[in-house]
Amino acid sequence: MMNFTAEQKIRYKLTGNPYQDPDFQHEGPNVIRWLTGGPNPTVKVQFQQEGDLTILYCPWCSEKLGQLDMSSKNVYQDIAEIRITGSKHQRQHQNN
Ligand SMILES: [Zn+2]
Repeated sequence: MMNFTAEQKIRYKLTGNPYQDPDFQHEGPNVIRWLTGGPNPTVKVQFQQEGDLTILYCPWCSEKLGQLDMSSKNVYQDIAEIRITGSKHQRQHQNN
């Protein structure tokens, strides 16, 4: 996994394949991505790379929803927590 981009690492962690894309349904640096699949709520995010961390932002208000360290063994749990936190946050946008 050494030469993979952060996004490829996420894909690898999620799918076992850095080029497979079941959870991130769009390409490009500024597009909105969906964290989906499994029992947790779907959340829309934008990625920004900061060193070893991938920061996830709300695409509507740019609020930081969480961050992922791809070297962490807890990345699955981190993604699950971001989806829970993010879905609560994004409910307010749906009510506007
Ligand atoms: Zn927001």
